[in-house]
Amino acid sequence: EEDIISISDVVRFQAQEQPDAVVFTFEGDEMTYARLDRDSNRAAQALASKGVGKGDRISYMGKNSHLYFEILVGAAKLGAVMVPVNWRLAPPEVAYILNDCGAKIMFIGPGFDELVRKIKPALQHVEMIFGAEKAEGDFASYPAWRDGFEPIDPMVECAADDDALQLYTSGTTGHPKGAIMTNGSIFSSRSAGIAEEDLMDWQKPVEGEITLLAMPCFHISGTGTGLVVLYTGGSAIVLPEYDPTQALELIEQYNISKIFMVPAAIQIMLNHPRASEVDFSKLKYITYGASPIPLELMKQAMDVLGCGFVQMYGMTETSGTITTLNPEDHDVNGNEKMRSVGTPLPGVEIKIIDPDSLEELPPHSVGEIATRSAKNMKGYWNRPDATAETIDADGWLRTGDAGYLDEDGYLYIHDRLKDMIISGGENIYPAEVENAIYTNPKVADVAVVGIPDEKWGEAVKACVVVKAGQQLTEAEVIAHARDHIAGYKCPKSVDFIDALPRNPSGKILRKDLRAPYWEGKDRAVN
Ligand code: ATP
Ligand code: MG
Repeated sequence: EEDIISISDVVRFQAQEQPDAVVFTFEGDEMTYARLDRDSNRAAQALASKGVGKGDRISYMGKNSHLYFEILVGAAKLGAVMVPVNWRLAPPEVAYILNDCGAKIMFIGPGFDELVRKIKPALQHVEMIFGAEKAEGDFASYPAWRDGFEPIDPMVECAADDDALQLYTSGTTGHPKGAIMTNGSIFSSRSAGIAEEDLMDWQKPVEGEITLLAMPCFHISGTGTGLVVLYTGGSAIVLPEYDPTQALELIEQYNISKIFMVPAAIQIMLNHPRASEVDFSKLKYITYGASPIPLELMKQAMDVLGCGFVQMYGMTETSGTITTLNPEDHDVNGNEKMRSVGTPLPGVEIKIIDPDSLEELPPHSVGEIATRSAKNMKGYWNRPDATAETIDADGWLRTGDAGYLDEDGYLYIHDRLKDMIISGGENIYPAEVENAIYTNPKVADVAVVGIPDEKWGEAVKACVVVKAGQQLTEAEVIAHARDHIAGYKCPKSVDFIDALPRNPSGKILRKDLRAPYWEGKDRAVN
């Protein structure tokens, strides 16, 4: 086990240990570890025949599939790097990522022929496109192609600091950037030698239990979940995309014990008409994160689902989770820690710094969250400047998030640094204002942004979605906020809108709300 340092090592090891165990189930097709090992060898040979070798990028754009993982492992066996692309992006954004990563071979899932045909002329490096699932359509069939090759493991040597995976950030604050993960950053808990008995209960693999992989693989939450399944020797049911009806059916049908969901997905599940009838007793843990969760929603989730909850905080640049709020801290009745994102995972360091002086701040002072661990990315692909701005010489990575630590080492997230509003020299964190406005029962959703103001530099603007059938005025929203927070934090004006712009993880795109007000003007951070 000591020699297990790469994605391919993990797959070879599991195929030895439990060849007939099912690793991924996709639309009824059960892929065993032996099959994953064998077919990824064929994939590696097929890719090598087209000149793909160590360090080369290949790309997959499609909904989740077990074939995505097969191709990822096939690439890994050559030391090549998978770049999954968000299929929800607009065509120019997809082209941007493909041109940025330089992949020559691209795989696409069903339903994307049309999109890919459209953007093909804009693709600068892509030479070959394979349909990952099927033979029909415009592009050659991947399964037929790989079946023409012998399942011979190329046995390319891979080191812990070799590139293994390249994921683009969500682009909540700007252009997505390609974060490079190495074998070491993906499997840091293995390489750090953390013994199984030191794992937390929710991290331990249990025989016969199944993970539901419901989040997208172009995001670290999806690919990360799949990789954890691989190295714990577990089993997962892979959903092409999140679908609450299917998720509820699978929870009842299978022995699903773990699901990672973003808060928006939890909310959709709870609002499903069948939610109250489903038997959730086999569900052990829901892990959640990627965006803040409203306390009300958490209460409802704990009530209805009745399982353990683990909150995760992390980002693409840290190969996913770096802090967790564990089940025992999920006490909605007056536990202060519930507002936090928990404590660092073993081997992860967190500190709060002054974003200007970079000096470390004491507990309870809000500043920028910085982190150091083996989980940190190697850097941004082809972006030495952005990398240097993000990771310092000592390996500390700036998260761009604002927050503070308490005296027990629990981390509290305030906001994106870029979303912080500076009004009359005071720092205002939108989340605090939003929480105050949200307590108004007529408010369905709210986002707060800074807009230009001649006197104060920036002024607080609230964008409010009113609940169906309710009436609400600007003056009422402001007066309600005044009852809860300091006057200088209250909105100076309110926009009423139909829905907030959000990305697939449920993150509010505050930059989109801000943009019209800043046209032609400079915002210090944008
Ligand atoms: P970009 O960096 O391109 O603007 P992004 O930061 O949204 O995009 P991700 O890496 O997907 O891209 O998201 C990481 C961010 O998600 C974190 O920096 C943090 O702001 C937010 N986040 C993650 N987990 C949590 C959590 N548990 N609670 C609140 N926010 C979270
Ligand atoms: Mg980010």
